[in-house]
Amino acid sequence: MKKVSLLAPGPTPVPPRTLLAMAQPLIHHRSSDFLEIFGRVREGLKKIFKTNNDVLVFCSSGTGAMESAVANLLSPGDKAIAIRGGKFGERWTEILEAYGCQAVNLDVEWGYAVKPEDVAALLKADPSIKAVYVQALETSTGVAHPIKELAQVTKDTGAVLVVDAVSALGVYDIPTDEWGLDVVISGSQKALMLPPGLAFASIGPKALEMMKTSKCPKFYFSWAKELKNQGANKGTFTSPVTLFMGLLDIFELIDEMGLDNIYKETEIKSKAFKAAMAALGLELYSKENASTGLSAVEAPAGIDAQDVVGWLKNKYAIFIAGGQAQAKGKIFRVAHMGYISEFDTLQAISAIEMALAGLGYKFEMGSGVAAAQKIFGEA
Ligand SMILES: *Cc1c(COP(=O)(O)O)cnc(C)c1O
Repeated sequence: MKKVSLLAPGPTPVPPRTLLAMAQPLIHHRSSDFLEIFGRVREGLKKIFKTNNDVLVFCSSGTGAMESAVANLLSPGDKAIAIRGGKFGERWTEILEAYGCQAVNLDVEWGYAVKPEDVAALLKADPSIKAVYVQALETSTGVAHPIKELAQVTKDTGAVLVVDAVSALGVYDIPTDEWGLDVVISGSQKALMLPPGLAFASIGPKALEMMKTSKCPKFYFSWAKELKNQGANKGTFTSPVTLFMGLLDIFELIDEMGLDNIYKETEIKSKAFKAAMAALGLELYSKENASTGLSAVEAPAGIDAQDVVGWLKNKYAIFIAGGQAQAKGKIFRVAHMGYISEFDTLQAISAIEMALAGLGYKFEMGSGVAAAQKIFGEA
C-alpha cells in the first residue's frame, strides 16, 4: 500500500497528535465532562471566527450549515441574491430553490470575483431582497470574493450577508465582528485540519432578528433550538464527541502557532506553488483575487487536466482535485491550507512535473521545483 497524500482542497490531512486526541475512549454526550468540552469548543470557535456571536456546531458536512442559513433566515417566496462565480455559488441557488425561495442569481464569470457595486445595484433596485449569499473563497475557481466590501454594501440595507467560509476560515483573516458579517459558515475538513463531519455557523444580531420571522421548514438544523441548547453547552441531539475532542486539540495547535503565522505560512506555500506553475509555463485559472488557500491551474493546451489528476492518484497515491462542471478537464487544484507542509507542496510540484512530462508536455524538468525552492529558501 502506498502512502496517501491528501493535497486536494478538502479533506486535508489531520495532524497525528490530533488523530491521537481522537483515539481517547468515548465519553457520554450528556456527561458533565462533555458539557465542559462543549463549553471549550464554543469559546475556541469564537476565537477563530473572531466574534462574540454564538457559533453553532452541527454534525454534518459544510453544506448542512449552508442549508441552515437559508432555512432559518427566509420564508418561502422570499428573494435572495446568490453570487455564482463557481460550483459552490451555484449551490446557494439550489438550496434557495429547494426551500421555495426566489434566487436572484448574480452570475460572475468563473475565475473572476464579484463586483460589490453590482450587488449594491441589485439591492437598490429591489429592497425586498432579504439576503446575499456568497463564498469567501470559491473553491472551484480559487478566487476570493471581496467580503469586507460586500459587508459595507449590505450594512445599511435590510439584507443580511451570509458568507460561506468553509475553505477560507483559518486560511486568511476573516474578522467576523470587525467586518460586520451577519452569518459565517465553516466546516471541519479544510483549514481546520479535522476529518469531515462538523459544520459551523456564527450568527450575528441582524440575522437573529431575521430568524424570528422565518417560515421555511426546519428540524435538525433549527437555529432557535440549537441556540437554546448549545447556549447551555448541550447538543440537541447526540454530539459527535470524538470530533469535539479533535477540535480541542486543533485549538491548542492553532494557539501554539498563532493565527497570523498560519495565514503567513499558507501564503508562502501558495506563492511558492504559483511561482512553480509559472516556471512551467502554466497559467492560473483565477484571473483575479487568486486565493492563498489553494491554486487552480490551467492544464497546458492539448493535455486533459483529469489525466494529470489521475496520474498523481494512480501512480503516486497523491490526491489533488480536478475542475468541476465547466472547468472539468481544463484545470487541476492543489491545496495550501491546513496541515500541508513546504515539502508536501514540493512533492506536489514534483509529481505534477512528472505527470506533465509523461503526458508529453515539453518543459525543463525540475524548473518548477527550483522556482518553489527559491521562495521557500528566502522565506
Ligand atoms: C468544501 C466546501 C463546502 C462544503 O462542502 P461539503 O462537502 O458539504 O463539506 C462548502 N463551500 C465551500 C466553498 C467549500 O470549499
